[in-house]
Amino acid sequence: METQQKALFIIFGGTGDLAKRKLYPSLFKLFEKGFLNENFAVIGTARRPWTDDFYRNVVTESLVGVSGDKTKIADFASHFYYQSHDVTDVAHYITLKKLADDLDAKYQIEGNRMFYLAMSPQFFGTIATHLGSQNLVTKNGFNRLIIEKPFGRDFESAKKLNDEIANTFDESQIFRIDHYLGKEMIQNIPAIRFGNIITQTLWNNKYIDNIQLTLSESLGVEERGGYYETSGAMRDMFQNHIMQVVSLLTMDMPKEFVASEIRKEKLKALEAIRILKPEEVDANFIRGQYGANKAGTEKAYRDEEQIAPDSMMETFIAGRLMIDNERWSGVPVYVRSGKRLVEKNTEINIVFKNVEKNIFGTSDEHEHLGKDVLTITIEPDERFRLTINTKEIGQGFNTNKTNLDYVNSPETKANTPEAYEKLLLDALNGIAINFAHWNEVAKAWNVADVILNSWHNNDDDKTIFPNYLSGSMGPEASAKLLTDDGNYWIYNPEK
Ligand code: NAD
Repeated sequence: METQQKALFIIFGGTGDLAKRKLYPSLFKLFEKGFLNENFAVIGTARRPWTDDFYRNVVTESLVGVSGDKTKIADFASHFYYQSHDVTDVAHYITLKKLADDLDAKYQIEGNRMFYLAMSPQFFGTIATHLGSQNLVTKNGFNRLIIEKPFGRDFESAKKLNDEIANTFDESQIFRIDHYLGKEMIQNIPAIRFGNIITQTLWNNKYIDNIQLTLSESLGVEERGGYYETSGAMRDMFQNHIMQVVSLLTMDMPKEFVASEIRKEKLKALEAIRILKPEEVDANFIRGQYGANKAGTEKAYRDEEQIAPDSMMETFIAGRLMIDNERWSGVPVYVRSGKRLVEKNTEINIVFKNVEKNIFGTSDEHEHLGKDVLTITIEPDERFRLTINTKEIGQGFNTNKTNLDYVNSPETKANTPEAYEKLLLDALNGIAINFAHWNEVAKAWNVADVILNSWHNNDDDKTIFPNYLSGSMGPEASAKLLTDDGNYWIYNPEK
């Protein structure tokens, strides 16, 4: 399935952070492993006037820390070319086309092109349009457009962007990166769900009580304040990563493990998520913004650089999603994500129902058999944990909780390809399983838009923020969301 590919990569934003931190190291790994070989070249573009040599040095420097022998790195870097290019200037695409055609001939690439837009989304439409009008899209090979988040800031803007791109590229050529879909343990969800009779049988509202998803970060906005002020947790985490993971957790079994079937099921799951009415938002979704920590050593969000002193941007969200279909009716899916929380952790908890009858007596210690929980930790640990009731060791008969644990070892983790490496290889091979389809993006915006509108129509009262301490697990209302239903967050590092 995965063979060596011939391809010319054209990276827009070749001098940027993403290119240096993720793309060049990932491409190198693919080159080192033989997925890319002599028939490959990269054109890096940005506005600065760099020479090829300067660019190759930048690429080489980006590989510091990536193991690899020097000759291999030099060979790799020799495939890189730099073209100074303002994406808004049509004339520049003519120069770019000439270079692309020359390199195509030089490396015998046969027309295969990967256009990677590693720059501000405001330019995505313009670039895609010019790639078409200036004939950078070839007739003989494959042409694929890889784009980064964010994909719009609401349904309207996302649709406009999609329409612009769709003038040049059809859906099968568009690879929307959601790097969560490249993570090992997220890719494990279908294996766990559909590869085991235990989970396959129990994965529905008869046996599952609730589902919890936490994406917690310990850092604040750092130097990305400018971007974050236009985004917030809802757009940065919920609309894309959270909705994608929820769709993988709740979709029905695809007929086959291929992109078309998986996307069909993911879309059905997303379509079944209840869209809240404006008056239902407050009871189901809460927002937060971090203040300083208790000791006063960490700044409040409003005191960070590039942040308005009365900013109403949310750095935390928690919500209850209800899925209106036969499989999930009545099962809340709780999601939360925030910055400056206790620690970095991404975790899924599948909470099963209690056994129908507790035969172990009615005394206090026997009365409450706890609920079984399947925990899938995505990062930084990679772990499966099944928490079940067992007999407490010793005399008499008491039950207690036992954890069945499997953790990927540090060695296994170190040898696992990074998300970007896996996604780039998938894109190179035309495998779209781990990329978001436009229909999924659109549905996710439909769910998010109502919540965002309700919040930002009520931004007059600036005193509601900050409402949680840096170093906590978010506002109290986040816990209340679950206690109102008789539930609680299984993952609770504050305990
Ligand atoms: P960046 O600001 O570091 O890089 C932007 C690049 O675009 C630079 O190379 C810059 O020279 C170039 N550029 C800007 N205006 C231009 C113009 N008119 N013509 C030509 N080139 C121009 O940004 P980044 O952090 O690398 O992010 C790139 C994209 O990736 C964004 O969509 C971002 O949201 C997304 N993203 C980044 C990260 C990350 O870790 N950096 C993570 C997820 C998504």
